[in-house]
Amino acid sequence: MHDLKKLIRTIPDYPKPGIMFRDVTTLLGDAQGFKAAIARMAEPYRTEPVDAVAGIEARGFILGGAIADRLGCAFIPMRKKGRLPWKTIGQEYTLEYGVDTIEIHEDAIDADERILIVDDLIATGGTAEAAVKLARRLGGHVIGAAFIIDLPELGGRKLIEAMGVNCHVLMAFEGH
Ligand code: AMP
Repeated sequence: MHDLKKLIRTIPDYPKPGIMFRDVTTLLGDAQGFKAAIARMAEPYRTEPVDAVAGIEARGFILGGAIADRLGCAFIPMRKKGRLPWKTIGQEYTLEYGVDTIEIHEDAIDADERILIVDDLIATGGTAEAAVKLARRLGGHVIGAAFIIDLPELGGRKLIEAMGVNCHVLMAFEGH
């Protein structure tokens, strides 16, 4: 795990003072690192059925698409408000730095489909909580949520696990 952690770039005070931005582009830009991250994120789900990975815009698309390919399942985009072309349902959430809405196509998930949520990082868990709610509103069964990075001090993982969804993370960073 240590080698992957070294590939994350930390940018202090971005996008606002007090935030330590954990930049995964340096990991994605390293061929071995990217490959290892995808393999490790997908690992716990290789032995159970997954119908679709739901990736959260935008970094969740990069990781989620590759994980879906590895698991041999479908990919569903969860996008910022107004970007999906067909009929959508939306869910508002609070970010570590702001308020936003994510949307999903209303026909993206069939009842009882087994869904894996994917994003790069879990902080307060607000984004992932909205993603779980969206999947459940369409009748999906959320079998897990996978992230590269957890910020445990912000409690997101606990929030999602309290919703009955196990989280799989590759590494943790102290602070915000
Ligand atoms: P949250 O909803 O608080 O769990 O925030 C998670 C979302 O915001 C993810 O999509 C992350 O990409 C982004 N995010 C939040 N905090 C950070 C951070 N410190 N560094 C990088 N991305 C972050």
